[in-house]
Amino acid sequence: MKQYCSVCKAYFDMEVVEEGSGDEVTWLRCPRCKGILPYMKLEEEPDAEPAAEAEFSLDSIDQDAVQEYDSKRQYEVGDVLYHRSWNDYGRVVEKLILPGNRQAIRVRFLNQGDVNLLEAVREKV
Ligand SMILES: [Zn+2]
Repeated sequence: MKQYCSVCKAYFDMEVVEEGSGDEVTWLRCPRCKGILPYMKLEEEPDAEPAAEAEFSLDSIDQDAVQEYDSKRQYEVGDVLYHRSWNDYGRVVEKLILPGNRQAIRVRFLNQGDVNLLEAVREKV
């Protein structure tokens, strides 16, 4: 069976060491390094890059999930905001604590770039 060996970094025709049945794994032996490895049904590049974080663009925004920015509210990393006065969309990339224990969020806006905004601001009574 043809299988990729991550040690030798090459494909080899491998001998079956233990045939798995049903959901069990079939084990193969690499003819070069003699390593035992599980037979993978998917012949994908083993060192494929992990799916890069989807580019943040207007097209990628789920309009139903957009929240209008309000400094009194609290946000989580990944939340998508709409800033009315800038007419710009941004995604929360980081939560920050500012001096004075004020909470803030770093937001990556489509047009403005990275901007720190206050959150959870309490109105003075
Ligand atoms: Zn090998």
